[in-house]
Order: sequence, then structure tokens, then C-alpha cells
Amino acid sequence: MKTIRLVYIVLYILSGALTGLFYATDESYLPLTALLIAAIAFVLQAYADYAPQPAGIVHHGVFFKSISNRGILGWLLGALLTGIYVALYWFPEVLGKSIDGAPNKGFIHFFDSISTALNGHAASEWFAYGTLYTYLIGLFGIRFMWKYRAHPYHLRRTQVILASQFVLAYFIPEILESFSQGQAYFDKDLKNVWPLNYDFFYSWHLDNMQTSSMGMFFFVFGLAMFLIVTPILTYKWGKRWYCSWVCGCGGLAETTGDNFRQNGPKGLVAWKIERWSIHIVLVLVSIMTAATLYGYFTGTDQLFGLSIYSHFQKPYGFVIGALFSGIAGVGFYPLLGTRIWCRFGCPMAAYMGIIQRFKSRFRITTNGGQCISCGNCTTYCEMGIDVRAYAQKQQNIVRASCVGCGVCASVCPRGVLKLENGPLEQRINEPQSLVDYIKTKG
Ligand code: SF4
Ligand code: SF4
Repeated sequence: MKTIRLVYIVLYILSGALTGLFYATDESYLPLTALLIAAIAFVLQAYADYAPQPAGIVHHGVFFKSISNRGILGWLLGALLTGIYVALYWFPEVLGKSIDGAPNKGFIHFFDSISTALNGHAASEWFAYGTLYTYLIGLFGIRFMWKYRAHPYHLRRTQVILASQFVLAYFIPEILESFSQGQAYFDKDLKNVWPLNYDFFYSWHLDNMQTSSMGMFFFVFGLAMFLIVTPILTYKWGKRWYCSWVCGCGGLAETTGDNFRQNGPKGLVAWKIERWSIHIVLVLVSIMTAATLYGYFTGTDQLFGLSIYSHFQKPYGFVIGALFSGIAGVGFYPLLGTRIWCRFGCPMAAYMGIIQRFKSRFRITTNGGQCISCGNCTTYCEMGIDVRAYAQKQQNIVRASCVGCGVCASVCPRGVLKLENGPLEQRINEPQSLVDYIKTKG
């Protein structure tokens, strides 16, 4: 193992040197080469970290403890991520974005050659971000599979996460974009569904989709995903089919965020806030979209004397789209866990959560007689669910917020928890209100 550790350290240094060489020479093959060498180093490191560990049940081996457990490095990382998001949204020139037609510089310039190869033009700040996002999901996804290699559920779903991100969210949109040069832009990520994709019904987006047959396909597909596919799949498997298998936000949380899953707020107060906030966001996106469609079909830009852009779309995009989902959603990973956005803000999760709670075959069954109260399940539930309380009551978990990640079942040393799909009858077994139970137990 010592040799492998030496090899990956050398590869990291080589990757750093190639990055430096790129900025000195501007050779276009160097960025991709540096990224590939760093990826090989990362995979070797994952192997060296986890291969000697038993392929068991413990959530072992977090990256530096001070980062993972809200230590000083965790706070610094949170501040750095938050700063990067602020720059991305409002000050992209800090990251090197071209101004007045000048070439990109700095961080964004690093991605120019990859962007040109994929879609035919220099990188935008969002291309650089999307490439890094996909790269991290790929690397940490492989690491995650090493860590949970004893669990076929995690292997399968991580493979689907990687395929969804690389194929549906990255390569297909970029390649389609290269075939659509000069044509009106519309979102080509097939898994980006309204209400998560809140600008789907914006006038410019509806108009642009109508300019080509490919656009019409994306329009019909988008509607079908929201109205037909999502309810059916959520009925069959719960919201996990999307939140833990397909969604990009969930994909990043499950892979790159795995070291922070224990940091999510827990307890009844957090549960109460979460139920209010996520449903408020669902109401807000519905109101904003209704106003948008009203404006589109009537040809007006006002509703009840309010500007549809300034009073509906702009505040939603700023507060929910940028501040909440981007800056807090990822920037606060080290401090508030990886599912802050999914738990407290995502309107897609709220929509599926309602179906999951009242009309879904999904449940986590508990064999509480075996429970030894170790609390692993509650500790590592990224959605802050007190899984142990359910286990001890032998009550099925049918919570709207559960994303079906399955980590509670994997870290349970007694095999108490099982993710299942079954008939609706007897899905909910509530011998005593869980809230009362938690209160009596303190
Ligand atoms: S209850 Fe289990 S499956 Fe559901 S979100 Fe928590 S850890 Fe994941
Ligand atoms: S259900 Fe399993 S992980 Fe949770 S407290 Fe009981 S024994 Fe521990």
C-alpha cells in the first residue's frame, strides 16, 4: 500500500506541474491531461484508503476529520465554496470570464480547450462549473463505490448517478449544443424537470423550444416528466428514483458530499422548519410559474399591477435559484450537511414527497427487536430523520423527506432496516405517534 500512496502523491504533483505548464505555455492538450492524471491519482488514493478496510457496515474513514466534522478546516472549506458560488453568480470575471470579447483567463481559461472540443466555443463560467461538478461526481462516485462495496444497492445506484450525470447532464447537452450553433438556446438536460428547472415555462424558453423539432421534443418530454413519469415512478419506488439515483444535486450530495452526511440538523425543530420551508418554496414556484404563463398567454408583463419579471421571476431566481440552491445548497455542505437544499428548499422533492407520503409503494421496514440502539442510522441519515426512533417502535419509515439513499440500512450492524416496495395496505403502521414517542424518550 505504501507504494500506491507514493504513486498517487507523485501523480498529484505531476498533475499540478502540468497545470502550471499550461498557464506558462497555453498548450491546449494540457488541461485534459492534468485532469486525467489527477483522476488516476484520486482513484488510487480511494483504493489505498478503503481496500485495507473490511467491506462491512461502518461508515468508516472520513476525509480529514477537521473538514468532515465542522472543524476549522470545515468552516474554511464552507467559506471557500460559498465564495466560489458568489463569484460564479455575480462576479464571474473574478474567475477569469472574458470581458468585452477578450479571451478567458485564469480558472475559466483552463476549460477552454475542453469546451471547444465538445461544443465548438470557448468555455463559459457555467461550462467550467459543470465540468468540475461532473468531474467531482465521477471521482467521488468511484470512491463511494469502494467504500460501500459490500452493498449492491449502493453500487447500482452510484453507477446510475454517474451515467445520469455524465451522459444526460453533460455530454448529450454539450454535443447537442454543438449541432445547434446559431439556433435559439433551450435547456437540453433531460433530467432537469420543472419545478426544479424553474425557468422551463419562461417566455424565452417556451419560444426558443418552438423554433425546432428538437426543441419541441424537449418541450413534450419536459411536460411528460412532470405530469406522467414523476408520479408513476414515485408511486412505484418513492422519490429515491430521482433524489438518490438521477438528480444532479442528489448525485453531488451522495458522492462528493458523503463525508458531510452526518452534519445535517436533526430533531423536531429542524423537522418542523423543513416541512414549512420546502412546501413554501413549492407554493412560490407555482405562483411564479402561474404568473409567467399568464403573461405568456395574454401578452402582458403585469399581474395585479406587479411586474411579472421584477416581482415574480427575479426574486425567485435570486433567493431560491441562486442563494438557496447554489450558495447555501453546496456552499454549506461542511456545516449543515449535504442535503440542505433537498431537505429545506427543493420544490421537486416537495412534489415527490407528497406522493411518497400518501401514495407510494416505498417504505423502510424495521425489525426493532434486533435494534441495539447504537444510533448509526440516525447519525448518518442525511435527511435528519431519527431512524432509530422508528426502529425501536418497529414502525415503518414512510417520511416524505426520505430520499431512499439506503445508508441507514448499510450502517446498521444488526440488519434492522430494509428498503422495500410493496402494496399500499399496511404500509403505515403507527402504534404511537412518533412525535409523542420522541418526546417521552427525551
Ligand atoms: S431514512 Fe435512510 S434511506 Fe431515508 S434518507 Fe435517511 S438514511 Fe437515507
Ligand atoms: S436500527 Fe440498527 S443502526 Fe439504528 S440504532 Fe438500531 S441497531 Fe443501530
